[in-house]
Amino acid sequence: MLLITAKLMAVLLVFIDGLGIGARNADNPLHLLGRRAEPLAVFQDEEPQLPYDGLLVRTDAALGVEGRPQSASGQTTILTGVNASAALGFHKQGFPNEALREIIREHSIFLQLRRAGIAPNVFANAYTPRFFEMRPRWVSATTVAVEAAGMEFRTLEDVIAGRALFHDFTNKLLIERGADVAERTPEEAAHILARISGEHRFTLYEYFLTDAAGHKQDFSSALVVIESLARFIRALLDSVNLDNTTVILTSDHGNIEDLSVRNHTLNLVPTLLWGAGRKHFAARIRTLADITPAIVSSFASEIPTYK
Ligand SMILES: [Zn+2]
Repeated sequence: MLLITAKLMAVLLVFIDGLGIGARNADNPLHLLGRRAEPLAVFQDEEPQLPYDGLLVRTDAALGVEGRPQSASGQTTILTGVNASAALGFHKQGFPNEALREIIREHSIFLQLRRAGIAPNVFANAYTPRFFEMRPRWVSATTVAVEAAGMEFRTLEDVIAGRALFHDFTNKLLIERGADVAERTPEEAAHILARISGEHRFTLYEYFLTDAAGHKQDFSSALVVIESLARFIRALLDSVNLDNTTVILTSDHGNIEDLSVRNHTLNLVPTLLWGAGRKHFAARIRTLADITPAIVSSFASEIPTYK
């Protein structure tokens, strides 16, 4: 009998809503922040110097469909590998409709990995008690994906115990709403996400204050959001084991990189890649539809094949 032991690989996908690749100008908070926005500060016509040998793929979020890319179709595409905008014929705003939910229920990354025997996997974001008490009529693509895969939602107890992060990883928004949780620095939050990633094969974390700040065209909040997020990502890269983990940061469409407009932008989005599989991913990702297939195939050597 031949026994081959390989170290188990892991993937951490950090999804940032509304972060595109903009120009260097006074409307771009990533430019205004200078080095404080690294490693998120990537610009048109300029090769970034990324820490930890990171790679940038300028990624197509328009998906061959006219109009401004939107969240429901973009997130469905990222989470399934199905070009959801093309399937609908338009970019769908906000939350998925039934057609998108059907795509997610059939093809979500959580299901694809489970079918391939890759586990355990986790959605690291916590949900508040309010979500369970008064379930919103419209829920995000990720929520649909987690439910369809029969996975458990993380809660505020998990935030307190260091097993999950709120979407605002500092907990400031939770504290403002009266929740009894401690505030965390971006670095403390990053260490928690790194630990969660170390205990799972595939970890997803979602952040969307970027999109909210972009829609508000509010420079002061955009600067705070980007600076805090950049600290979080730098600390994450410092604490994740990049020898066996690939960190992927991507977005569904541009927004915060151009505060001169209230809408999403038509810009490409950055897919930033670090760690073990970064070259595998850089060779395979061109559009948002390539992300899930690239993640699934990155585990392919571990998926048993019978020939
Ligand atoms: Zn938006």
